[in-house]
This record gives sequence, C-alpha cells and structure tokens, in this order.
Amino acid sequence: MQNIPSITDFDVRGKRLVVRADLNVPTEGKRVTDATRISRFAAGMRPLLARGARLVILTHFGRPMGDMNPELSVDKLRPLLAEALGVPVRFSDVSADRATRIHAEGLADGEALLCENVRFNTGEEENDPTLAHAFAQLGDIFVNDAFSCAHRAHASTEGIARLMPAVAGPLMMEEIAALTEALEAPHGPAVAIVGGAKVSTKIAVLKNLVTKLDGVIVGGGMANTFLHAAGAPMGRSLHEPDQLDTVAEIRALADESGCTLYLPREVVCAAEFAPGAAAETVGADACPADRLILDAGPGAVEDFKAVLGRARTILWNGPLGAFEIRPFDRATVELARYAARRTAAGAAVSVAGGGDTVAALNHAGVAGDFTYVSSAGGAFLEWIEGRTLPGIAALTRTDQAA
Ligand code: ADP
Ligand code: MG
Repeated sequence: MQNIPSITDFDVRGKRLVVRADLNVPTEGKRVTDATRISRFAAGMRPLLARGARLVILTHFGRPMGDMNPELSVDKLRPLLAEALGVPVRFSDVSADRATRIHAEGLADGEALLCENVRFNTGEEENDPTLAHAFAQLGDIFVNDAFSCAHRAHASTEGIARLMPAVAGPLMMEEIAALTEALEAPHGPAVAIVGGAKVSTKIAVLKNLVTKLDGVIVGGGMANTFLHAAGAPMGRSLHEPDQLDTVAEIRALADESGCTLYLPREVVCAAEFAPGAAAETVGADACPADRLILDAGPGAVEDFKAVLGRARTILWNGPLGAFEIRPFDRATVELARYAARRTAAGAAVSVAGGGDTVAALNHAGVAGDFTYVSSAGGAFLEWIEGRTLPGIAALTRTDQAA
C-alpha cells in the first residue's frame, strides 16, 4: 500500500478538519432513499468528533454544473447526517467564501458544519485554484474521505490538497486497504472475474489484471469477442469484431506474465433478450445463426467454480451474463453465491466493484457476504486499471509538511 497519511494518526483536538465526503445519496424529492453513504461516513467521523475535532464537511450532490439548483441543495441531508454523527450539524448555504469561513471559525471542539454543494461553484470541476484556495481557508487539515471522487481532479478533492496538510479519512483508508489487498494479492492464487458488455470498455482493466494476477475468468459479452477471436460463430450475439487485435494483445500479455485466461466452454443462448425467451445451452463454438449468447452455461459455471475453489483472493468486476433478465442471471448468481460461501468459510478474500456488479451481487443476495464491495464505480475501475488517482496522489506528495 502506498504511503498514505491517515487522519487517525493525528492529534485532532481543537483542529478544524476540512473533510471532503461523498454524500451523493439517492433521493426521491427531499427523501433520502438509501443513507448508506451517510452512515458509513459518519461512523468514521464519530471517533474524531469524540477526540475534539471540529468538522467542516464538503460534499457534492448531483451535477448542478455550477448552477445553484435548489433541488440539489445538501441541506436536506442535514437531519440524517446529524443523527448519524450524534451531534447537531450547522449549515452554511455557501461553501467557499467569507461567510463559510465565519461559520467554520465559529465551531467549537466536537462540532460539525455542513457546507452547501461544492458543485454550486463554477470552479469546482475545473479545479480552479482560487476556489481551492477558498476551501483551504476553511480549516487546518484537509481530510479526503471520498474515494469514489478520487479519480477526478476537482478543487475540493485535488486542488485543496496542494495547499494545506492533506490526509486520508477513515473510509478512504478502508477502501484503499481492501483494494490493495485484492490487487497486490498477498494471498495467492489470486483470480479476477471480469465480465460486462464490451471488451472495449475494459481493455485497460484486462491488461492490468493479467499482469498482476494468476488467473482471469472472462465472461459476459466480452467473452463473446474472445470466443469469436478463436473462430467461434457468434450468431446475433453482442461482440466486437474490431477488437480482435486487443484480444490478441491481452492473450500475449497474459502468457508473458503466466496468467491463465478462462473462457466459458458452454453458453446459454436465446432468440431474443426478453423475459421468458426460450433459453438453450450449447457449446461455446456452436451458437446458432439466429440466436444470441446471453450467459455462461452450467458447464462453464462448474469450471469457474473449480478455479474460484483454488483461489485465495477473488476480485470481481462485471456480470457473467445479461443478468437483468432471468434466466440469464444464472451464471452470475451461482458464481456470486459460491464466492460468498468461500469468503464465509475463510477460504478467500473477495472484493467486488462496479455499478452493475454491485446490482448483480444484491440481486444474488450476497453483497453483504463479500469481504469488501466498493460502491465507487468510476474510481474503482480506474484503480483496477492500475491508474494513479489524482485525489490520492495529492495526499502522498513528498513535499508535504503534514
Ligand atoms: P459494471 O457496471 O459492473 O462495470 P458493465 O457495465 O461492464 O459492469 O457490464 C454490465 C452489463 O453487461 C449488463 O448490462 C449486462 O446485461 C451486460 N452483459 C453481460 N453479458 C452480456 C451478454 N452476453 N450480452 C449482452 N450484454 C451482456
Ligand atoms: Mg456498468
């Protein structure tokens, strides 16, 4: 794990912490429909408040594009945040000017202030230095606790970190530790499941993982492209004939690094992607001309279970089939449950992420049984691509006087 300074190592009494959170929770009107992000953030902050920290909380909400759209005000998050933090939360209806500073300076030890949506400022997404400077004026130490925003260099995630002592928050540390454990794989054999619709959206992911792990199971629509490259007929299946060179490149990289690629030997196909469509299992080299491949077949699921059964680390991104419609969810659900059982038995560490992947694990009823499920879609993908996330890089500068 990179040398990332953590706020838990600091004496925070009397210090004003400018904390960047991701409280971008789903809502219907003014009602928050899932408060998971608020409660997880608050769990990390409560010990800091108890130790006398003063919290100035910054978050984005939705995509106001610099406009002050009252529907995207974060004031509606305040009651839930106060409840979760266990202290009253004050509110500043601006996030980066003199008025905000006066609010922040009025905080006593163990008190919290929530500032209005950082994206109401035009400079936020452009990482405007003047805005970053205004954020930095709000406190003594910058605490980035928004891993899910770390792949964006914005004023409240990256710019500010250059201007003051900058450290990671508890949730950020937790996420980095889990992902590092899966990717740097102290426990071999380490295997990834990479599925989803298209090879073209996951090229960097595949290239990085085949150089780091012992095996990669390829599923979903992208397995079709691999099968097609090996000469299999595709019928009407989703596949990308223009990605055959990419497939060859990924295969060569895997060979070079001793990573085994696993493809489905059996597939489930149907005449259409629709509920109740008659599904048929055929060999991976035998998709009929009028059919589409929509899932991995039972034989493939058995193969993949055997691979996971030997793995001590399992990293998962992308469903194995078109899981949104039954019965094409079957391979994904069975493998998810198997990975969850291996995790529960203490046989493997399992880490999963990606928007549709998390939905698929919830659908299979096992999201809670994985060692770690990352809700940071974009940042998670960039991490497993092996990219440096600007929000994290800004915390690890060597010139920093933290
Ligand atoms: P994530 O959001 O977890 O990164 P992706 O967005 O890459 O995952 O992939 C999810 C999508 O891939 C789903 O919408 C699923 O229906 C689709 N998919 C998986 N297998 C197939 C297939 N054989 N044919 C068409 N679409 C597929
Ligand atoms: Mg997706």
